Amino acid sequence: MINNETILALSPHTDDAELACGATLSKFIEAGKDVYMLVFSAPSKKLSEECTQSFRILNKHEPDNLTILDYERRLFPEHRQEILQTLYDLNKTLKPNLILTPCTRDHHQDHQTVTQEALRIFKTTTILGYELPWNIWEFMENGYSKIERSHLNTKLDSLEQYESQKHRHYFSPEYIKSLALIRGGQIGVKYAEAFEVIRVIL
Ligand SMILES: [Zn+2]
Repeated sequence: MINNETILALSPHTDDAELACGATLSKFIEAGKDVYMLVFSAPSKKLSEECTQSFRILNKHEPDNLTILDYERRLFPEHRQEILQTLYDLNKTLKPNLILTPCTRDHHQDHQTVTQEALRIFKTTTILGYELPWNIWEFMENGYSKIERSHLNTKLDSLEQYESQKHRHYFSPEYIKSLALIRGGQIGVKYAEAFEVIRVIL
């Protein structure tokens, strides 16, 4: 059993974490775990509001466990040291024992920066890399989270809040459900979300 009581999802931009692992976060929250989300960039006030609404649906009990920072999109590599410091400070106060972050083969420079700095800070923590298929050139899915239909529904409800992003193909419920079915099929259950196991501490 992985002792993951305090979970921190790192989301380079609004919506990344919900899209990749919203159902798993919903499952953890239902199980009474402390789930936090740190968003590094919200390009507009609208997106910031949508993200707040989305997290409220995921984490009904602790809607304040969301922090939205204002790093400029696509320029994260230039702010590497500040991002490192942000994570360092958060690690001291929060002491998370499970980190969810973009997988190591994600090619977006902002996603890469967040994951690389997370690896430097959370050296003694279990880290799972999440999947955003449209951003990845190779995904090592060697970790799975079984999810129920109810968790998938909560994920879809939370993503519904992103009015401004609905036109994107990966926001369609069909796309999200299909990926959950594929990942579930790989481990003999109906639905799942997949992860790259970057580090596991038992
Ligand atoms: Zn992103």
